[in-house]
Amino acid sequence: MKKIRYLPFGYTIAKGEIRLQPQEAPIVQNVFKWYLEGETMQRIAERLNCQEVQYNNNTAMWTKHMIHRILVCKKYCSGEKLPVLITADIFQRACILRMGKAKVPRKELSAIRAHAVCACCSNKVYFRTSGERWECPNCGMKTDKQTTENILNAICSLLNDLSSHLERLRPPGDKNNLFSLELNRLAHEISRTFDQREIDVDHLTGLLLSRSSKQYSLLDAGAYDPLTLRLKEILEQKKSVWNMETDIAFFEQVVEKVIVERNGSVRLQLINGQLIP
Ligand SMILES: [Zn+2]
Repeated sequence: MKKIRYLPFGYTIAKGEIRLQPQEAPIVQNVFKWYLEGETMQRIAERLNCQEVQYNNNTAMWTKHMIHRILVCKKYCSGEKLPVLITADIFQRACILRMGKAKVPRKELSAIRAHAVCACCSNKVYFRTSGERWECPNCGMKTDKQTTENILNAICSLLNDLSSHLERLRPPGDKNNLFSLELNRLAHEISRTFDQREIDVDHLTGLLLSRSSKQYSLLDAGAYDPLTLRLKEILEQKKSVWNMETDIAFFEQVVEKVIVERNGSVRLQLINGQLIP
C-alpha cells in the first residue's frame, strides 16, 4: 500500500505517539544547518541524493522544492503538536536568509506600501522600485536607498521583538481615561463604606489598597485601553516567529502605519497609536 505523508518529514507515529523519525530527523537539522552555512536549496538536494533516505516513497530524488518545504515548515520549531526538531532561532535565521534572497512577493509589498507614511509630514509616501527609494510627493522627502527586503526584515524583527516583550506595550498618552469594571466596582464599594454610620476601618483600608494596586497594575500593563488589550491578545496568540510570507494578515491586524525615515529606516505605529521602536 502506498504510504501517504500526513506528518512533516522527520516524524513518525509509534505506539500512538508522534515521535522523531531517527533517520529523517537529523536530515531536517542538516538541511537548516547547511542552508544557514550558505548552501543553495538545489545544492542541498544534491547532497541528499548521495545518501539513502528519501523524502517520500513516491519519488527517488530530492528536489529543491522538497528542501523549500522543509525550510518553511514552522511546525519543526513551534512545539505545539509535534516534538521540537529545531530551535525558533534557527528557523527565524533561515527565514530571514530566504527572504533576503527571494524577490519579495507583490502581496507583502503592497501591504507595506499601503501603510507607508512620511516621517517628516505624515503624508503617504511612494516606493520607487527603480531607485529603491521612498518619496514623499507632499514635502519632497526622499529616503536613502533601501531594498524592500531590508524593509521587510526590519518590520519582522520589530514585531518579533515586541512579541517577546509584551510588557513594552503601552497605551498612547492621550488615552489615559481609566476604565475598568473592577475599578468601577471598587469605587462604588468604597463610597458605600464611607456612607455607613460606623466605618469598618480595616475593610475600608483593604478596599483602598486593592484599588490602588489595581490602578497600578492597569497602568503598568496598559490594560485599560481596548486597542492595547486587543493588540496584546493578538500578539499573545502568536507564539511562533514573524514571517511576512505567511503573516500578512497579522501585520494588517497589528500595524496602523509604517513610518519611513529619511535614512530609509522604518518605525511602526501600532493600532493603539504606540510607536516602535
Ligand atoms: Zn513628507
